[in-house]
Amino acid sequence: MDCIYENFLSFLSTFESNTSYMAKAKNTKKKADKGSSVITTESMAFLKDYINNASPVGFETWGQKLWLKYLAPYIDEQFVDPYGTAVGIINPGQPFKVVIEAHADEISWFVNYITDNGLIFLKRNGGVDHQIAPGLRVNVHGKKGIVKGVFGWPAIHTRIGKENETQPKVENVSVDCGVRSKKEVEELGIHIGAVVTYQDGFDELANDFYVGRAFDNRIGGFMIAEVARLLKENKKKLPYSLYVVNAVQEEIGLRGAEMIARRIKPDVAIVTDVTHDTGHFMINKRIEGDVACSKGPSLAYGPAIHNKLLAFVEKVAEDNKIPVQWRALSRSTGTDTDSFAYANDGCPSVLISMPLRYMHTTVEMIHKDDIESTIKLMYETLLELTPKTNLSYL
Ligand SMILES: [Zn+2]
Repeated sequence: MDCIYENFLSFLSTFESNTSYMAKAKNTKKKADKGSSVITTESMAFLKDYINNASPVGFETWGQKLWLKYLAPYIDEQFVDPYGTAVGIINPGQPFKVVIEAHADEISWFVNYITDNGLIFLKRNGGVDHQIAPGLRVNVHGKKGIVKGVFGWPAIHTRIGKENETQPKVENVSVDCGVRSKKEVEELGIHIGAVVTYQDGFDELANDFYVGRAFDNRIGGFMIAEVARLLKENKKKLPYSLYVVNAVQEEIGLRGAEMIARRIKPDVAIVTDVTHDTGHFMINKRIEGDVACSKGPSLAYGPAIHNKLLAFVEKVAEDNKIPVQWRALSRSTGTDTDSFAYANDGCPSVLISMPLRYMHTTVEMIHKDDIESTIKLMYETLLELTPKTNLSYL
């Protein structure tokens, strides 16, 4: 979710699979599967790989390659647009076109300024949260490959102004790669404009909760790929062309979706992204509404959301006993839904969101049940939908 759009009052304010962060799942004894589990051992392995890889805004190629490789057996055709949005097509060539969409990019940082003594100051690439930076480990994606570094933060004993604690801000958090001169930083292959991502990866908690970096919105990429897999495995024939779209550059203004919406010109768009679980005591439900992990995907009302398509999805949820939650959006949705709705002549669009705790931190938390319910809701919606579905307002 693009934070700039999402919350005007908030902070406006080389490819490497890092298996060391993979969950060893010591604390997660598997419960007996309730009913049919959508996620398989193979899809879970893909999810972990996908989350443990970097896919910074504007540099999503590393993640897109993984995603397309997983998706390939379940689609008939694929293409990649000039800025890297990846698309798989099922049943190509039909006059009626439906999109299911997620975004591939993760918030990150850019190297912006290197001091003479080798500290690196950064610029945001998307709405990355400076307040959580101190103490975190990063990968700097330089010209010679990945260089490890840390957001160093002086010790509690030594910080200047202890009475009036310095808050982490973009201008006072810096990355230390273990070298003490600008020259040595450059010798590592680090340059102005190199992207920087956090190292934190996938892990499992109790009660089927998962944590990871940038589940926003790579869980969406995972879910639309799983929908394609289910369609293939269950040998479903669709009366339209289905475009499975993993768009780039959502986090800086919904740009990848804007580009690909114009290229595909879909008749219907079903977008998935994350939304806030509002159960934490620091979040005001009177402002943010009431959404909780494990209670199902959240459907939203908002001008960009097509009312009749929304009612259609709601009916599908009801008929299939898929739990859903509701929220209301002011003006824009802050998601690629806006791009699909408005990019062309008006494309009926709907947003199906995954509840998530701690958005834009390295410990984004989601619940397995919501992943499965969201996949199911998209899948069943696609099976119900036809070119004749009446979406006319008047
Ligand atoms: Zn986001």
